[in-house]
Amino acid sequence: AKEAGRGRWTLFDPKENARAVSRYAVSVRMPAALDRGEFFIDYQPLCSLADGSLVAVEALVRWRHPQLGVLGPDEFIGVAEETGLIMPLGRWVLEQACRQATDWVREFGQDAPQINVNLAVRQARNAGLVTDVERILRKTGLPPGKLQLEITESTVVGPEDEALKALHGVRDLGVSLAVDDFGTGWSNLAYLRDLPVSCLKIAGSFVGDLHDPTKDAHTGWRIVSGLVSLAHTLGLTVTAEGVESGADAERLRQMGCDWAQGWHFGRPVRPDEISRRIAEARRT
Ligand code: C2E
Ligand code: CA
Ligand code: CA
Repeated sequence: AKEAGRGRWTLFDPKENARAVSRYAVSVRMPAALDRGEFFIDYQPLCSLADGSLVAVEALVRWRHPQLGVLGPDEFIGVAEETGLIMPLGRWVLEQACRQATDWVREFGQDAPQINVNLAVRQARNAGLVTDVERILRKTGLPPGKLQLEITESTVVGPEDEALKALHGVRDLGVSLAVDDFGTGWSNLAYLRDLPVSCLKIAGSFVGDLHDPTKDAHTGWRIVSGLVSLAHTLGLTVTAEGVESGADAERLRQMGCDWAQGWHFGRPVRPDEISRRIAEARRT
């Protein structure tokens, strides 16, 4: 707090102020940024814990801002959701990612990874979702089975929800769905009964907390193991996110977790780096 005039105090946090400025900078430039081609997508590997093979990649959007440098999604997705720009941006990410995935299918056939694309709450609630996805699949030529959309627990709040209809429509196209950051929401689990999902992604915070000295790792592992069992009981595939070490990967493999994503398996990278990895895995 800083003294402003006679006996009056205003809050002044330079860090918070810088944030507010960039938030403004973000919101004014974003609409033009899409047309100017300032967004790009990095791809992060999802690997099978059974044999380490690359089974899918997640599309993660970035913004090369001319003044602020490369911004991560946490810096602008929130603003995009508030302003509605998430709709054209989300469509652009989906089309771009599907086009890239189709290139991999053409080049590598059966060895091409599944593509995972994040769906914002607003996108999922949009009645036009099904036609958007259908149009993009047709336009890019991607087999629907190669596409998985990631939704969060907060996307579906009840069985009457609009999102539910759209998500069933998407599933009917042959596209699969995953619940992202599973276990971090406050939702009750009943939604799993109504939702046509095929995969649960255990939030990275669960694995991360295992290495937090203030938190009991033994209990942490039991929670992770419980989430893996829950997924399998429901007949779903389970992915652990935020796996940073080989030791954690091994333990997750032993508890039957199917796939893993995290720095241990690879950071988000440019698509040609993914191509190089697939080509190299084929040779060996
Ligand atoms: P997410 O969907 O949970 O994506 C995983 C995030 O965890 C990514 O951050 C990734 O870089 C990071 N990560 C991966 N492995 C590790 C690890 O081992 N350790 C740690 N500490 N972090 C790891 P990123 O790229 O900053 O994305 C943040 C979030 O932004 C994503 O979280 C997702 O919710 C959102 N996002 C990204 N792209 C899009 C998009 O195209 N549309 C929408 N709606 N949201 C997106
Ligand atoms: Ca995700
Ligand atoms: Ca996640």
